[in-house]
Amino acid sequence: MDTQKKNILHGIPAAPGIAIARAYLYKKDKETVLKETITDTDSAIKNLRDALKKSKKELKKIFGLAIDKMGEKRAGIFEAQLMILDDPILIENIESRIRNEKLSPEYVVNDEISKYQNLMNASSELYMKERSHDIEDIKNRIIRNLRKKKWVSRIESDVIVVTDLITPADTVLFSRVNVKGYVTNFGGLTSHAAIVARSLNIPAVVGVHDATENIKNGDLLILDGIHGLVIINPDEEQLKQYREKVEKLNELNSELAKLKDKPAETLDGKKILLQANLDLIEELELVINNGSEGVGLVRTEQIFQVTDSFPDEEEQFEVYSKIAQKLYPHTVVFRTFDIGGDKFLPIDIKEPNPFLGWRGIRFLLDNIELLKTQLKAFLRAGIAKNVKIMIPMVTSIEEVRQTKAILEECKNELLAEGKEFDKNMELGIMVEVPAAAVLSKEFAEEVEFFSIGTNDLIQYILAVDRGNENVSELYQEFHPAVIKSLDYIITEGKKRNIFVSICGEMAADIFAIPLLLGLGLDSLSASASALPRIKKIIRSLKYEDARNLALECLSLKTEKEIKEKVYSFFKENLMDDIENLLEE
Ligand code: PEP
Ligand code: MG
Repeated sequence: MDTQKKNILHGIPAAPGIAIARAYLYKKDKETVLKETITDTDSAIKNLRDALKKSKKELKKIFGLAIDKMGEKRAGIFEAQLMILDDPILIENIESRIRNEKLSPEYVVNDEISKYQNLMNASSELYMKERSHDIEDIKNRIIRNLRKKKWVSRIESDVIVVTDLITPADTVLFSRVNVKGYVTNFGGLTSHAAIVARSLNIPAVVGVHDATENIKNGDLLILDGIHGLVIINPDEEQLKQYREKVEKLNELNSELAKLKDKPAETLDGKKILLQANLDLIEELELVINNGSEGVGLVRTEQIFQVTDSFPDEEEQFEVYSKIAQKLYPHTVVFRTFDIGGDKFLPIDIKEPNPFLGWRGIRFLLDNIELLKTQLKAFLRAGIAKNVKIMIPMVTSIEEVRQTKAILEECKNELLAEGKEFDKNMELGIMVEVPAAAVLSKEFAEEVEFFSIGTNDLIQYILAVDRGNENVSELYQEFHPAVIKSLDYIITEGKKRNIFVSICGEMAADIFAIPLLLGLGLDSLSASASALPRIKKIIRSLKYEDARNLALECLSLKTEKEIKEKVYSFFKENLMDDIENLLEE
């Protein structure tokens, strides 16, 4: 195919699959308002009343939809917005200022509602500050309606969402209305929005730069999440070609589905534990249907969509128990809240370098009650002995020791409370910071398992932001420093007989799998949607060949050489079997 045609935009392939659907531009831009005087105050007030009525009608519709899609609790933000529209003091105030000061309704609405916002922003409570963003929405909605502009935040079905940047919460919200794909101007491969898109099996192309400028609402799009292409208003030939591809993909997927109950075992008998990462409760069915042998990483901060408050022990216990029971007899690894970095930090600070800031276990050890609540919920959810605990962003042995001491405290408290729990629950760490990698030997003596978080490990080893499309070329999983680090972590872990797994996105890269296996990993954990093709690759190769590949790669000095080696291994050993996967 000619990928240089004028109607093709290029981006980063963030979630595989192909979608053909209409574009839906999702914009959250701000209305600018100037101080303007008017003469006809009667018609200005009529315009205001009509705009308020229309805003109310729109919001009621969104509120109803939100209750269905997001549940009552989260839909509450729209209810609060509706209450503002009904506030008689505010409305009376706006109307009298229009009459007396002869100012345009847009200006007065902006001015009066901004006062509300400023009050909320000045509050020391984070909750109030958060709500001030919602008020921004309502303010813009009224102003747009005063200007008789079309409001574009309605959530439409069966479209490809085109936007600047999506938050993980946006991704979830959209997935519930059957969005066919995502195109964003910004964002990288391991941004959380991309991960959520992958786990929900929704194709996505991110970092397209000028997508929102080139694509218009309603344009027909072909989104190729495998090659990172977006075709705007495709011609007949492009459409024909892609319809055939979609058909082939469906065939391949049904072929792969047949492997569901087969083991993830190489041709020469090396068995790999193949598990899924879980970001959303909704994914559980997909995890089970795709033949996962349990879950190697639960991102609990995503499960609860931690925003302004943390769930209490009972709420957490209920969710964790449900997951553990559903997966039994397989195991599940719950990771403590990994907040900070590109994930929401529920406190009122703006960090200059969030990825180097108050993140993961650092935040939790400074908020011990929060950590204890979560550890107790894990311990209680593990009565069937299929739960493990993992801590993120570990950099020092002290952090592990401190966490262990707190875990013991939790056990004593649960004993005193007469609650049942798993007394021998395993504790492991994410190896995702270079310090932990360098100290693998020492950490292996402290914990019961390692899970390598390549998403972060690569960004910290190479000093390349995982979510920044400007440096995505430099985010190299085959960089020799990365491969050597993986080798060291795995070797030191295995020497001390602890279980070593990888749960970063690298585990889902079909080209990386032979090398990862050859480095000696016990387990791979990846998005549920990627498991069938990972299994296909594992079952098509010999461990001995993979081992030799790893040894050869460890002797190479550049990313280019390693990449070439890995690709040619693929061609020589796997091409026949995997041809379909490559062609995708
Ligand atoms: C990782 O860093 O590789 C990882 C799995 O954790 P997260 O993507 O949640 O940071
Ligand atoms: Mg991480």
